[in-house]
Formats: sequence, structure tokens, C-alpha cells
Amino acid sequence: MSLKGRVAIVTGSTSGIGLGIAEALAAEGAAILLNGFGPADEIEKIRAGLAARHGVEVRYSGADMSKAADIEAMVHSAASELGGVHILVNNAGIQFTAPVEAFPPEKWDAIIAINLSAAFHAMRAAIPLMKNAGWGRIVNIASAHGLVASPHKAAYVAAKHGLVGLTKVAGIELANDKITANAICPGWVLTPLVEKQISDRAKAENRDEQDVRHELLAEKQPMLEFSTPAQIGALTVFLCSDAAQTITGTPLSIDGGWTAG
Ligand code: NAD
Repeated sequence: MSLKGRVAIVTGSTSGIGLGIAEALAAEGAAILLNGFGPADEIEKIRAGLAARHGVEVRYSGADMSKAADIEAMVHSAASELGGVHILVNNAGIQFTAPVEAFPPEKWDAIIAINLSAAFHAMRAAIPLMKNAGWGRIVNIASAHGLVASPHKAAYVAAKHGLVGLTKVAGIELANDKITANAICPGWVLTPLVEKQISDRAKAENRDEQDVRHELLAEKQPMLEFSTPAQIGALTVFLCSDAAQTITGTPLSIDGGWTAG
């Protein structure tokens, strides 16, 4: 229980990678503020399950990561309800694909807001609390698309590259405050976000989902395996450990070799 006494905010943790991260941090004893969308009864099941499995306090905030005021209020509610903010995982994210000239401006704005600006607003609110506590860990969930591009993902690639840049700035600024800031850059992880891309492509091309799943991996990753939310959670826990004390301002790939080539 290496994170006993720490409070972690994990944005977008009602599903996929964020949920895997919340589970891994709770297993190490951190109190958790869950965030994200979904049916109230399912979210309550997730909240109560995490608390019961790991014996930690778990609260939920329905803050909308496209709204700066919501984000600030979420950070302050974690501090007042759980006793501080020590770990901030900026994970909430959305996707939309289209060529640049056909990309709807409102989709561009939403992706930049949720996948990039939300991390800035959360960090802006959380850093003073981490400084007060004399310890902090910021983990920004970027992507292989924070390091390299793919067609039809203009907003996503721009946001994730921006998130890596923001992470570097925070790493430098906070270098002597016992606060680290790092980005995790996953390749393919099988979550609802990716399942939707697979089923959309299978439908559009009238193909078997299993074939599309294999093709998606083969297009990008030398290793023909999806990473799991639990593995992203384990890397997050490592970044919160003493062993990772001097890792800061850097993107860490967990991508089956995607960005090695
Ligand atoms: P997901 O769709 O399973 O989960 C996204 C989460 O974000 C959900 O909890 C959802 O409710 C929440 N969310 C969406 N919009 C929100 C908003 N406006 N306010 C608050 N919460 C909101 O997706 P995932 O695959 O788990 O992705 C999580 C993160 O990992 C994203 O930032 C994504 O870009 C990144 N990522 C995913 C993959 C992958 O292969 N799945 C790869 C690299 C990076």
C-alpha cells in the first residue's frame, strides 16, 4: 500500500484506461476522486466496488472536462472532501476522425478542450495544493499520437502533441518542488473508445470485426497485441513511486513498438 494517505484525481475514470488507473492507484491505498460520464447507477457501482475492494475512500465528480469552472470546482472538492490533491491523472479524452478539410470545427474545439485544455485547467488548480503538501505527481495520458501522426486525426494529434509539450513545461517548472509531471503515451488499448473505431470501420467496409481488430494493430504496432488498462495503471503507479522520483517532463511510451520505427 505504497500510496496510503495520498489523494488521486483521475479524470475520465468511469471507463477504459481511466478506470484501470483508478483501480491500480486504489489498490496501492490512494483515496480516489472518480470523474467521467455514464449512467448514475453504473457509476455508483464502480465507486462502491473500488472502495470495498481496496478499503479506500472513493468519491465521484461529474465535472465536464470541457468546462474550466467545472474542472476547478472538481479539484477543490477533492481537496475539501478527501483532504488534499497529491496525484492528478489527466486522462479524459475523446476522438473524431476526418480529413483536415472536412473536420467539423466544433469537433476540433471539443477535442482541444477535453484532451488538452482540461489538463491545463486541472494542473493550474492542483499545483498549489501539491506545493502545500510538499509532494505531487502529475500523469498526463497522451498517446503514441503525442509523438507521431496518423491521417484523419488532426485535432487528436494536435491535442496530444500539445499535452506532451505542456507536460515538459510543468516538469521543468516543478523540478525542485518534489512534484513530477510525465506523459504516458499508449499505443492501442482495447477500450470502448477503440471498440467504436473498430465497429465503425467494420460497418463502413462491411467486414468482420476480428479482421479489423488485427488490421488496426498491424497498421501501427510491430507487436500485435493491445495494451490493457491494467498495464497503463501499473505504469501510473510506478510514476507515483519513489523509484520514479527523478523521472520528470518526459513522455513514456507503452505502445508495442509503434513509435520505435
Ligand atoms: P474511453 O472512451 O473508454 O473513456 C473515456 C473517459 O473519458 C470516459 O470515462 C468518459 O466518460 C470520459 N469523458 C469523455 N468526455 C468527458 C468530459 N467532457 N468530461 C469528463 N469526462 C469525459 O476511452 P479510453 O480509451 O479509456 O481513453 C482514455 C484516454 O487514453 C484518452 O485520453 C485517450 O485519448 C487515451 N488513449 C487511448 C488509447 C486507446 O487505444 N484506447 C491509446 C492512446 C491514448
